[in-house]
Amino acid sequence: APEQSPRVVVGAQNMPYLDSRLPIKDRVSDLLSRMSLADKVGQMTQAERSAIKNPADITSYRLGSLLSGGGSVPTPNTPKAWADMINGFQDQALATPLQIPMLYGVDAVHGHNNLVGATVQPHNIGLGATRDPALVERTGEVTAAETRATGVPWDFAPCVCVGRDERWGRTYETFGEDPALVVSMETIVQGLQGPADGSQLARRDRVLATAKHYVGDGGTEYGSSTNGTYTLDQGITKVTRKQLEDIHLPPYQEAVRRGIGTVMPSYSSMQITDEDNTPVKMHADGDLINGTLKHDMGFDGFVISDYAAIDQISPDYAADVRISVNAGVDMVMVPNKYQEFESALTGQVNAGTVSEDRIDDAVTRILTEKFKLGLFEHPYADTSGAGDIGSAAHRAVARQAAAESQVLLKNGTDGHAVLPLKKSQKVYVAGSNADDIGNQVGGWTISWQGSSGNITKGTTILQGMRQAAPNAEIDYSKDASAPTDGYDVGVVVVGETPYAEGKGDVGNGNDLALSPADKAAVDRVCGAMKCAVLIVAGRPQLIGDQLGEIDALVASWLPGTEGEGVADVLYGTRPFTGRLPLTWPKSQDQLPINVGDASYDPQYPFGWGLTTGAAPVHGGAATLKALRALAAAADHLHSAKAGGALVGQARQLVQQKVGQHITAAVAKPFAEADHLLLTGHYRDAIGKLTQAYQAA
Ligand code: BGC
Repeated sequence: APEQSPRVVVGAQNMPYLDSRLPIKDRVSDLLSRMSLADKVGQMTQAERSAIKNPADITSYRLGSLLSGGGSVPTPNTPKAWADMINGFQDQALATPLQIPMLYGVDAVHGHNNLVGATVQPHNIGLGATRDPALVERTGEVTAAETRATGVPWDFAPCVCVGRDERWGRTYETFGEDPALVVSMETIVQGLQGPADGSQLARRDRVLATAKHYVGDGGTEYGSSTNGTYTLDQGITKVTRKQLEDIHLPPYQEAVRRGIGTVMPSYSSMQITDEDNTPVKMHADGDLINGTLKHDMGFDGFVISDYAAIDQISPDYAADVRISVNAGVDMVMVPNKYQEFESALTGQVNAGTVSEDRIDDAVTRILTEKFKLGLFEHPYADTSGAGDIGSAAHRAVARQAAAESQVLLKNGTDGHAVLPLKKSQKVYVAGSNADDIGNQVGGWTISWQGSSGNITKGTTILQGMRQAAPNAEIDYSKDASAPTDGYDVGVVVVGETPYAEGKGDVGNGNDLALSPADKAAVDRVCGAMKCAVLIVAGRPQLIGDQLGEIDALVASWLPGTEGEGVADVLYGTRPFTGRLPLTWPKSQDQLPINVGDASYDPQYPFGWGLTTGAAPVHGGAATLKALRALAAAADHLHSAKAGGALVGQARQLVQQKVGQHITAAVAKPFAEADHLLLTGHYRDAIGKLTQAYQAA
């Protein structure tokens, strides 16, 4: 077992906080009683490692935490270099009088994605498509093990945002548009942290997790705001109190229930339209942080601010510090001007504008997590799991996740399926994302925004296909300029290039259209032969004008390093089982479009996803009879799994009949059925599906 033996310090009776036999509560209060204001302010400070010009600053400023913001990685970028770097910082922290270990954090949002050679999972949007909570938990376990093995005990993940507008540039970080879907995917918290009581946090294969970005990040108007000439993903969320409670808060209730250690507020602002006249910056929102999160939900971990986010509250930094800490921020991701932060917070305490009680509460929360993580006993990196980084076993989990995340939107017409491919077929592969690991993994990979090209180890979709069908003739032409004649089938892989943050839309062209080159590749291949188009992107792409010429269409999302997983479903080693985690729109002017909207007329509804497994074939009357039988059976269910299976059968029957004729009258009840399924209303879900069937 990866358990570490506790270190009992000899003579610790004079220093109870060092005695690992004592309850954490007692250790924290003992330590707190020995701390100066400078020690406490230091604990509340998180600095960017690249901003530390002199390592001794960690000691003199008593820095409680450091981070690698996106791409701020050691050179060389190896597990050993990470561990050495962090151990070096830890030496500095342990040189303080009370020897309080510092806590290192990174964004491991889909694997230990800052490390070359780590296993990179699909981004959350793909995980949401799997509808497989157990698998999602395992992806969290792999991420935790690989991250902790390099000495990093804290991960700024998962994003539990509910993505309500696909113009939002961080849509790829949502598990989906339906809060019930997001909640169901929060098994990832257990994968990262272990049980809710924190009893495994000290293990070498677990990390402290962060639910972010509190609250309503995915609900910003147009998905954006403008900041000078830039369009950003940090806008204003305008909702009624009821919408806030029904849509955006449930994932945090779930995260708290699952024992989440930290919560990160959002850059965005909140305007509760039936109560507020003006928007409030989330980092200044004491009602929602102190009130709703800490008091009402009982969150007892600590709140970590987002990167330099408090600076956006006002033009006056001292006021920003005062307002955010009083609103309930416990640790500030400064991250660069830590000297200025120290003097600002110290000044506020001395002036009595931030109370000592507030400081003690913040520090108590921070220290409690440090004790749970076992940092006082084992402050240095335990790299004994480093050999498993990028291992076959870990990659197998990511491969399965990639496979299960693929959503088959369309598969031939009139019963002439294009997928799965046969290994005997001659295949013409084209498109900008067919053979590009960087595009396939997306943002937050090796660098902050990610980048195209061969940036880390893995298998591209093209390589995966060649491995799956080693004897097949599989030719590749990125721009589809090579001759297209003589092929059985074309596979065109198109979509987005990487980005992590900064994309939004206030009507300035950040639309969901394919690039001209991608459109041309689709035209050329699909004009010449039967074709399947795969969309590798963090959100739906508008494809309506070309849908007529496309025979099969797959939403591949950002599948991660294991292109073999995509090949598995293309070649039928596994059936397609993924389902849309959000609505696929017909046109830009439909946005925002979500389940439950009054006029719901999408290209593909929430929950849509064909399968290549054996589908039941029935005539009209027989299908209705079958649906009724399924509904009746739903009354006698014993498990959610059984309920899911029944609704799944019903869905297949309906999808089969509906085919490509998804009218509003069909789409609406279809999407509602999925929501009912997620909330455990199986009979009602089948009822809605029957309604969709009758409307088709
Ligand atoms: C992002 C966060 C991230 C933080 C630290 C911010 O820009 O919004 O999601 O955790 O940077 O890298």
